[in-house]
Parts: sequence; C-alpha cells; structure tokens
Amino acid sequence: MRILFATSEAVPYWKTGGLADVARALPDALAARGHEVRIAHPLYRPVRALGLPLEPAGTAKLPWPRGAVRVRYFLHRPRAGAPGLLIDEPAHFDTEQPYLPAGEDALAHGRRFALFCRAVAEHARAWSADVVHLNDWPTGLVPVYGTLDGPAVPTVFAIHNLAYQGNFPRKILRQIGVPRSFFRIDGLEFWGKASFLKAGLALSDHLVTVSPTYAREIQTEEYGAGMDGLLRHRRALLHGILNGLDTHAWDPSADRAIVAPYDADRVARKDRNRDELVHELGLDGAAPVVVMITRLAHQKGIDLLLDAVPGLIRRGVRLAVLGDGDARYEEALSRLVAAQPRCFAAFFRFDDALARRLYAGGDFFLMPSLYEPCGLGQMIAQRYGTPPIVRHTGGLVDTVQDGITGFAFRKPTARALLRAVDRARLAWRQRGWDELRRRCMRLDWSWTRSAAEYERVYHAALKSAGRPGSA
Ligand code: ADP
Repeated sequence: MRILFATSEAVPYWKTGGLADVARALPDALAARGHEVRIAHPLYRPVRALGLPLEPAGTAKLPWPRGAVRVRYFLHRPRAGAPGLLIDEPAHFDTEQPYLPAGEDALAHGRRFALFCRAVAEHARAWSADVVHLNDWPTGLVPVYGTLDGPAVPTVFAIHNLAYQGNFPRKILRQIGVPRSFFRIDGLEFWGKASFLKAGLALSDHLVTVSPTYAREIQTEEYGAGMDGLLRHRRALLHGILNGLDTHAWDPSADRAIVAPYDADRVARKDRNRDELVHELGLDGAAPVVVMITRLAHQKGIDLLLDAVPGLIRRGVRLAVLGDGDARYEEALSRLVAAQPRCFAAFFRFDDALARRLYAGGDFFLMPSLYEPCGLGQMIAQRYGTPPIVRHTGGLVDTVQDGITGFAFRKPTARALLRAVDRARLAWRQRGWDELRRRCMRLDWSWTRSAAEYERVYHAALKSAGRPGSA
C-alpha cells in the first residue's frame, strides 16, 4: 500500500513527546513490511536548521481565502526507514515554536495546521496514496479538505491524546476556507467552537487509539474529554492498537549515551550506570533511586507526586526528575531539591542523553499518570531493566503487570502511590530483584505485531472510504 502518514512531530525532525517516537517507528515498521510510506511533516524553522539533505518533490497551489497559497514539498530520505515529506510554506511553518507560538495569536496557530492539512490532502491525491494516517488535532482537517478539493482520500485518524483538541473560534473557518456547512453537530462544531479534533473524529473513515484500555476509557464521560458521545457513536470503527517501541533507538546494549551497555544476560552491568548516575546527580545512593522522565503536565500526575513527597522522604527514597513544561511544577520541584539535595535532583529541559542515563541508571521509573493513552516511558524503562511504578490507567494497564513487570496502583492518591513504592522497595531488597529486572528486559515491545494490526485497519478504511461518518 501507499501510506501517507501525517504528523506535527516526528523523530528526527521535531519532538515534544511520544507522538514523535511513534511517527518514526510505525512508518519504519510499515516500510519494512513492504509498504511505500511517506511521513508528511511541516518544515518548521528548527527542522530547516538540521541541514538535512532535501530533494525537491513538487509544488502545489492550494485554494486559500485571500488568493492561492503555494507550498513546496521536499523528500528527506534517511539511510534506513520511511522518507519524510517536508512541507514548506514560510508564512505558516517557519516558526521556532510550532505549538506555543510566542507573541502569536491562537488563530495563527489554527491557520498553520489547517494549511498543513490542505497540503497533506493535496499530496495524498497527487501521489495516489491508498490511505492517509492522521495523528491528533493538527491533522484533523484532512478529511475536510479531502472532500473539498477533489475525490475523497481514505483516512484513518489516530488518537494519541484526546485532551488536546484544537478548538478555535468559529470565525477561523473563513480564514481557512472551510465552508460553513461543516459547522454542524456531526461535523466540526463543538460547543460553539470549530474543533479540528472533532473534524478528525467525526469525518475520518476509521479511528485508532494507542492502547486497548484507552479505547474503552475514552468512551466514558470521565476520560472522553467531551468527545465520548461521538466515540460511542462510532465505536464500531474505533480500534485500540498498542504502540510499540523503536527497539533499535532504545537498546541498552547499544546505547552510546550510557557508560556500560548491558542486556538481560548482563544485568549486573546496569549497576555501573547506576553508580555513575548517583555520582553525576550528587545523590546518596544507599536507597532505591526512582527516576521520572516526563512532560511536566497535570496529566502526568505531578500533583500526586508532590503530595507523596513527605512519605517519600520518610522512606528515604531518592528521586531524580527530568521534565519540562509547567513552571508551577518546576518551582515546587526546585524547592524540594534545595531542601534535600542528597535525596532529590531535578532538571527542567528536554535532554535525550540525560534521559537515557536516567533510564539506565535508575532502579525504578515512576509514572503516576492521571490518564495515559499508551505511554512509552514505562516501556523504555522496562527495556532498560528499570521496573516501572505506574498508576493503572490506559496503556499502563496494558503494559505493566503488577508485581510481575512493574508495580501498579489504582486510586489517584498519595497513599496508593506510596503503597506501590513500598512493594517496589521490598522487591529491591529481595533475592528475586535481578529476575524481575530481566523479566522486564525480555518483554517484546517491537512494532511488528501492531504494524500488522494497522494494516488491517488501512484495508478496512480503503473499503469504506467515501462514506465518512456512515456509521
Ligand atoms: P507523552 O507522549 O504523553 O509525553 P510518552 O511516555 O508516550 O509521553 O512519551 C514520552 C517520550 O518523551 C519518551 O520517549 C520520553 O523518554 C521522552 N521525554 C519526555 N520528557 C523528556 C525530557 N524532558 N527530556 C528527554 N526526553 C523526554
């Protein structure tokens, strides 16, 4: 099949979270299975700055309210894996901050991704794609432009996070050339706003989300972020497919960022990485070292962690956090570090190499998410022999077996979290510790199985295409 994979972030172009990992690993896995895949991605300023070799791949004049807009397409062919289709239009994409445009109004943010969607729909036709795989709200308007400018292209919309919706004032529609007829309850209208996410959910041929448990949860009011009614309505077309990991990119036996590479047969070597880490962070390593690598967002259970701090101190747990995001959390964590520098360490930036040292050097990986579509952190941690301590929600239910491949708690309370930490500490001191780490490392999170499931959904989308929303 010819699969056009549209995304607002993908490794190595731009990354803020797990979507970027998935948007590289899944297309690569599909390409390895014999499909022709292109990863459509805007040419943001930081992408241009990477200086990648780009091959011109055509231009298009897209209809736009104040005269047509010319976009240019470039192919980036990595040494292995799926090529990128980088889309250039300086007025919309040449920005340092694609998601949080400094000094820019929210509508400009919406226009950016609307134009991206139109450019993707146009290329899908020009390239005769069999199916377009969409990801989250920045790609939600592809099924709209896909029916406006020519014959419809089959679409599969993947939900990575329902909380980010791309809801804009209705007046944006005039600025992005979307006819008013789409502003209806079974279209993109959402409580008086124009919702890009809802367009994707309502008008794509099939829907996928990134774990079976999250697929069930988002049909409930608690987790549905206002879209649960629509998702229940379309549930026959909603599939839960667990994300995989790029097992080459995340491999403790070949990770250049760590001092002592190791695998399940040499798990004792992991302790050298631990020694280095404890030294680097200035921690006292006599107790278990719990690490967190996360966006500092409410979703990730940072408030839960902060509530649990007195209990963690009483237990002598060491905690190292690498995260960026909400300044409120940075302040709270900084205060902790200042008060207990031998017990706590925190870094507020995006730092891939430090993340790897933490995955390799930590004893446990904490992920107390309030909700979690899939989560990659816990899978990476398992692969690095660092048993995760997680709140059992969404993909964390599907990937962590309590007491067997990590530790889990259910209630979103500090007490429940600390109980799981206590069970983990006990395991750390007991004879089965190495066996537990080995069991985690031997889990198979490669993309092979999930890529085959996506193929089935693509075929189904091909069959039902042209009847969007027909369910
Ligand atoms: P989400 O996509 O919701 O942020 P995931 O667990 O699915 O969460 O994916 C997070 C990815 O981003 C993982 O690869 C993790 O290692 C990485 N990551 C998160 N925060 C940082 C950071 N501050 N520095 C480096 N890597 C990070």
